[in-house]
Amino acid sequence: MSGCSDQAYGDFGGGLVRACGGARIPLNGSFEITFRCNLRCVHCYIDDFSGRGELSTADVKRILSETADEGCLWMLLTGGEVLTRRDFPEIYLHAKRLGFLLTVFSNGTLWDERIADLMAEYPPFGIEFTLYGLSDETYLKTTGFPGRFTRVRRAIDLVLERRLPLSLKAVAMEPLAAEIAPMQALAASLGVRFRYDAMIQARLDGSMIPTAVRNDPERAVGYDAGDPARFADWAQFYRTYGRTARPSPFVMSCGAGINTFHVDPKGTLLACQSLPLNGYDLRRGSFRDGWYGIVGDLLRREASPANVCTGCELKGMCDRCPATATLETGSPDGWIPYYCEVTHRRAALLEESSGNADAAARYRAHAERVAGGWTPPGAILPRAVPSGAAAACGSGGCATGCGAPKTQEASASNLLQIEIPQRGSDVHPEVQR
Ligand code: SF4
Ligand code: SF4
Repeated sequence: MSGCSDQAYGDFGGGLVRACGGARIPLNGSFEITFRCNLRCVHCYIDDFSGRGELSTADVKRILSETADEGCLWMLLTGGEVLTRRDFPEIYLHAKRLGFLLTVFSNGTLWDERIADLMAEYPPFGIEFTLYGLSDETYLKTTGFPGRFTRVRRAIDLVLERRLPLSLKAVAMEPLAAEIAPMQALAASLGVRFRYDAMIQARLDGSMIPTAVRNDPERAVGYDAGDPARFADWAQFYRTYGRTARPSPFVMSCGAGINTFHVDPKGTLLACQSLPLNGYDLRRGSFRDGWYGIVGDLLRREASPANVCTGCELKGMCDRCPATATLETGSPDGWIPYYCEVTHRRAALLEESSGNADAAARYRAHAERVAGGWTPPGAILPRAVPSGAAAACGSGGCATGCGAPKTQEASASNLLQIEIPQRGSDVHPEVQR
């Protein structure tokens, strides 16, 4: 993309998506090739790192090929940690040969010269490392393992020495509150892009433990107020999308399932990585059948009367969505007070900066009401965060590495709803066994 500015590239991507929207072409895919990971982060959404039942190399390659056949252009390879798969180079090269604009997400702790050289020979569209601190001491608290920042720092050098397109990012969780600004400074000194997000979702089995390390809503919005570039981005977004959302009878409120899709490590095709509804088993059926079948059906699913967000004018800038709601409440129609408060505080800040004192006061009053424990009548509410979860996080004890007991929310497991095609003559020939 040399010679093409970010803005021009963004216009290109947006224009392409708009041009294809009606045709529902799966332009943009993410493929979580494994849930295995060598870290155990306190905020991680993965509930099973064992790798049991994950796709074979042949299945991953077949599914990638099928997505390319249906028009996929942007493909993200992610995990878990992608490099815990020994066959990552084979998968990566297959994806390159298919012509995708390929992005790789990684925690950066397993990179060596061999992988960096492979990327240099066959460059990706982008590489993104997530930082979980700026020292080995912080990494021990956030990921449960010693010495990991040293490894990431080395990986950054390996990538930059080869002039590969690296970005850094971070989750602005409570244990990293003091390190976001220094991370930003590090990225600036290296000349790479850095972004961060305060959103932390519940675990894939519905456990609320990861949410224990969320920033409180005021601090989450405080990042926007204290960072001029971030504030300018939000102001631009708000001018374009804020208060423009219209009431809708449908449960889906974003582009998932229209031009975007996700494949999980067991071969489940989903509209979105975090939305465990309308999944399709790609080990038994084809991408085409899943995409135009059950995944498409999701777009016609109507919101329930209990969904208090369908008419919200701020829903376009809120992190409550069918996915986050399903993980936290068990229903895509659920309401999430944390996101409601963050969104109203953010809107108040943005209105204030535009001189709209009345709108700012109205949004702030709503945020205070939510902070005070108010809930909309009839709303489907999140499960409770287990007591002691935040205090126990970082001790590296349980399956998530958070150290908190796995007593809670056993009933929240099995959120995933999958269609399993019958084997038979209509089954994709490459998956007949
Ligand atoms: S959040 Fe941490 S533990 Fe979870 S997949 Fe990423 S690096 Fe691994
Ligand atoms: S959670 Fe609150 S701000 Fe977010 S969409 Fe629902 S009503 Fe709107």
